[in-house]
Amino acid sequence: MENGNGGSLFADALKQFDRAADLMNLDDGMRQVLKSHKREITVNFPVKMDDGSIRVFTGYRFQHNIARGPAKGGIRYHQNVNADEIKTLSFLMTWKCAIAGIPYGGAKGGVKVNPNELSEGELERLSRRFFSEIAPFIGTETDIPAPDVNTNSKIMAWYMDTYSMNVGRSELGIVTGKPVELGGSLGRNEATGRGVAIVADEACKYFLTGGGVKGRTVAIQGFGNVGSYTALILGTEYGAKVVAISDITGAYYNPEGINVKEAFDYVTTHKDLKGFNGGKIISNDELLALNVEILIPAALERSITDKNADKVRAKLVIEAANNPVTPEADEILRKKGISIVPDFLTNSGGVVVSYFEWVQGLYSYFWDLEDVRKALTKVMKNSFADIIKTMEQYKTDMRTGAYILAISKVANATKLRGIYP
Ligand code: GLU
Repeated sequence: MENGNGGSLFADALKQFDRAADLMNLDDGMRQVLKSHKREITVNFPVKMDDGSIRVFTGYRFQHNIARGPAKGGIRYHQNVNADEIKTLSFLMTWKCAIAGIPYGGAKGGVKVNPNELSEGELERLSRRFFSEIAPFIGTETDIPAPDVNTNSKIMAWYMDTYSMNVGRSELGIVTGKPVELGGSLGRNEATGRGVAIVADEACKYFLTGGGVKGRTVAIQGFGNVGSYTALILGTEYGAKVVAISDITGAYYNPEGINVKEAFDYVTTHKDLKGFNGGKIISNDELLALNVEILIPAALERSITDKNADKVRAKLVIEAANNPVTPEADEILRKKGISIVPDFLTNSGGVVVSYFEWVQGLYSYFWDLEDVRKALTKVMKNSFADIIKTMEQYKTDMRTGAYILAISKVANATKLRGIYP
């Protein structure tokens, strides 16, 4: 299916997969297994709107692979959600969980809707109905959803309640990213951004001279959950100089460094950056072309393409969004000597703390924030080091190294289990 941007996103992901599979001489049968989705669910469901009318929405849940454990991945609400996108993102989740060494396979879900056009009541009815539609395929030990683009802990609470009401008991492990009062984990909200900051620091130490991310210039595209926490943590804890940020309302540039705490607080109260005066307004294209050391795309897929990759001047591109760089752009960046840290490592902090949340829920024993942060840091640093080792061993780029490592873990699990019957 077309993604509205030319070509299929899944075909792009398969190109990157094949690059790795070729290098590791993966046999055809295993390739077929790992490229196929176990289950693809599409649901069309009605929602009563506030004015009494009825609207039918379309939603998806794709489960890519469960060789290493239950399927795991977020659910997004966006007007451009489509089967090709969700299929690709569920594929990426398999590799993300394998790299992190957490016992899950990959899944993703989404509803084609612009949530900003819905009232609170409509959003709740849509969320509860969608979850009921996919509930037969969801379960604490089978598939565990979580937040993604435009979904949050409030929506996870509705999902959890909907499921619990139907089975007649409170099922804490059914979703992660829940409010802390309802079995959520401390540190889950910030987890993806914190993971990005940890990876950015490690990447600077490895790919650039002069140590970690401290004092380095950073531009961040996207200021949702991931972009805003990345900016906040990089700026306030790691001493990086975040000179540009952006969201759908525009890009904001301050060569002296944006006050990231101010920007973070601004979006907490105003929802977006519209009216933020901590930087000069520039275009999104200008942000991508800024003379910074580190560029962090943290918005949606395909923001760096063959149309603008040539203009990127950063030395490091750290993919906080899923699929932000097309395969063509990837090649252009690599030819320019720019190192790319792949999405399924960079943004894995969210699912890692989801795993901690799931474990805490199963034991009904909850950890301190400090313990969550320490455990997350350990996983992120180990994953980074493991990928670098594979990359060096195969003399390849970091994304291909990450794929090789992830593919070998899932292929091994598949071999150990055997093909049933
Ligand atoms: N939506 C996040 C991701 O893409 C988190 C998934 C999860 O926690 O299960 O990684």
